[in-house]
Amino acid sequence: MTSTIDTIEVKTITGVSAQKLGELHAFGVFTVKDLLEYYPFRYEDYRPRSLSEIKHGDKVTLEAKVIGIPVLQRFGGKSRLSCKMIAEPWMFTATWFNRHYVREQLTVGREIVLIGKWDQKRTQITVTDYEFPDRGEGKTGTLQPVYSVGGKITQSWIRKIINQGLQQFGDMIPEILPHSIMRKYDFMPRKRAIATIHQPVDTREGQQGRRRMVYEELFLFQLKVQSFRVLNRGRMDGVVHTVDNTTVRQFVRSLPFELTDAQKHVELEILHDMRSPYCMNRLLQGDVGSGKTVLAAIALFATVKSGNQGAFMVPTEILAEQHLRSLAKMFEPFGVTVGLLTGSVNGRKRKDLLAALQMGMIDVVIGTHALIQEDVFFRGLGVVVTDEQHRFGVNQRSVLRRKGYNPDVLTMTATPIPRTLAITVFGDMDVSTLSERPKGRIPITTYWVKHDLMERVLKLISREIDQGRQAYLICPLIEESEKLDVQNAIDLHIQMGQAFPNYKVGLLHGRMTPSEKDVVMRAFYSNELQLLISTTVVEVGVDVPNATLMIIMDADRFGLSQLHQLRGRVGRGQNASYCVLVADPKSEIGRERMTAMTETDDGFEISRRDLALRGPGDFFGTKQSGLPEFRLADMTADFEVLEQARDDVAELLRDVAFWTSPDFAPLRNYLQNEQIFQGDLMD
Ligand code: ADP
Ligand code: MG
Repeated sequence: MTSTIDTIEVKTITGVSAQKLGELHAFGVFTVKDLLEYYPFRYEDYRPRSLSEIKHGDKVTLEAKVIGIPVLQRFGGKSRLSCKMIAEPWMFTATWFNRHYVREQLTVGREIVLIGKWDQKRTQITVTDYEFPDRGEGKTGTLQPVYSVGGKITQSWIRKIINQGLQQFGDMIPEILPHSIMRKYDFMPRKRAIATIHQPVDTREGQQGRRRMVYEELFLFQLKVQSFRVLNRGRMDGVVHTVDNTTVRQFVRSLPFELTDAQKHVELEILHDMRSPYCMNRLLQGDVGSGKTVLAAIALFATVKSGNQGAFMVPTEILAEQHLRSLAKMFEPFGVTVGLLTGSVNGRKRKDLLAALQMGMIDVVIGTHALIQEDVFFRGLGVVVTDEQHRFGVNQRSVLRRKGYNPDVLTMTATPIPRTLAITVFGDMDVSTLSERPKGRIPITTYWVKHDLMERVLKLISREIDQGRQAYLICPLIEESEKLDVQNAIDLHIQMGQAFPNYKVGLLHGRMTPSEKDVVMRAFYSNELQLLISTTVVEVGVDVPNATLMIIMDADRFGLSQLHQLRGRVGRGQNASYCVLVADPKSEIGRERMTAMTETDDGFEISRRDLALRGPGDFFGTKQSGLPEFRLADMTADFEVLEQARDDVAELLRDVAFWTSPDFAPLRNYLQNEQIFQGDLMD
């Protein structure tokens, strides 16, 4: 095998000592490729400018000549060195602080390049850096890259090493984009693009290089997701579900309500995918309370009645328990058995469960991420449903596949996004949308109040609980500190206990053990607790129809989608529900969030506004999205490039030549390295 820059270790670059190597590793730089793709995040402009175009306070580079005798003043332990300079035709003063040793170098008539901050009133530059052209120093006239550095790695060292890396290995940087794309956008070769990002000759050149590499990043991302989808579809080895309509109808008819039209439509889409020999990879997006769980139940039921097993993966143990209860009830009359597997199921219990799963004695298992761990085996896994926030990455699905299962995958999310955006960023999935909520729901009334109205809020709690209802009180979010959040919850719990001596007040937070949380949630489900003080752990999925009041403290600290999720915990039953946002927002964005919440109860509208307030970059910058982080590309600024790349990839994959022609070999290799497929493509 010939060595390539992605296999050559970074230590082969001259100047990388053993000690520095460790630090590079800490930055995720192991190979030459990693180093060359360690891009600067901005540039320092060392190009000289004319004094006529400079404004007060600008950071500038000036080419000048020494015309005066330097004057050194000392005060305390400090010093100031001033010297008259000329940058034809302007005269000005250059000032150095605490660098008295520069004085010897300032001989009249000598040329100098000064970098520093311009003070218009004093016609003076405060020098931060300088160099003498007669010494042949080289920063002047260039844009210097600025990298993220730390520890023993300094800015000048990393610049030097990357420069050295480019010298030694720059010629080995392979081209990866096909000719057609290179021509279409008039891209510069990859070699040059990478070099120019590190050492741009000028701004235009640097931008051209960046343009190419941003495109490439998004193109490869799209290639990965779309080819996975194409390969999936082309393969006839998914599970073919054989369940007949009558059986499914019986199950649906046994439910305590009629499906909405939207649910019926999505049901057909899911069953169609499941009956086909292709692997289903479907994203179901629907607002909170739109009734996604029942569609999960139908998919799980259908796989069991086709002779397989189903898995239902959810983000929290509370949610797993909740789904276990409701599914067990629905499935019971049909003889479908249900099991629970979470992090707190261990020892004997876990062993028995795993054995039962492997022997096929359990039809449906509900659990957390513990479900897809190494030692979990199924007799025949037909469907995996994931609820809220989980999204199988492309690679994880490949792992499932290689484990011997090709289950259909249904992913559910309550953070709906506009369809065009969804198919672009979740390019590997088909998207179903639940566009309506069950009929007969009374809309939730949302109020925004200031803290000084807290007395009234407490009265509202009394009113609801006196009528036999229940309420949630969500604690403020203290940035970056779960510990403080928890303390807050504990304090609030004590206060509320005193304020409502006649009610049972419960407490829920992230530092409790799963079984402690479970005790509290069970008590709340059964109305033994009337008021639940909680951190955001109740955020997702929890379904207690008798709860009619949601109070969120310091609501402006929460994101819009999160607020909407929290609000979705009420309005699930027959009674009118309320959401009260207690907030004195200091920022404009905080005020806009409060206004949006009071103006609309529609999840799509909420996410549209969230998107507008934050931009897709931030919107997808959350774990929720399951998106990879890009080195150069920015989902907000480069969204149009992403769309362009999506279309180009789609076109490319429609062409058989992609799988055969040598022009696309680098791309096929890329896919192979990313484990999208193994070497069996050509058969
Ligand atoms: P989400 O989409 O937020 O997960 P759920 O699946 O938890 O919503 O459903 C919310 C509530 O609505 C549940 O109590 C569920 O039983 C009920 N529900 C679901 N579908 C319907 C329907 N078609 N008609 C009436 N109630 C329904
Ligand atoms: Mg749900």
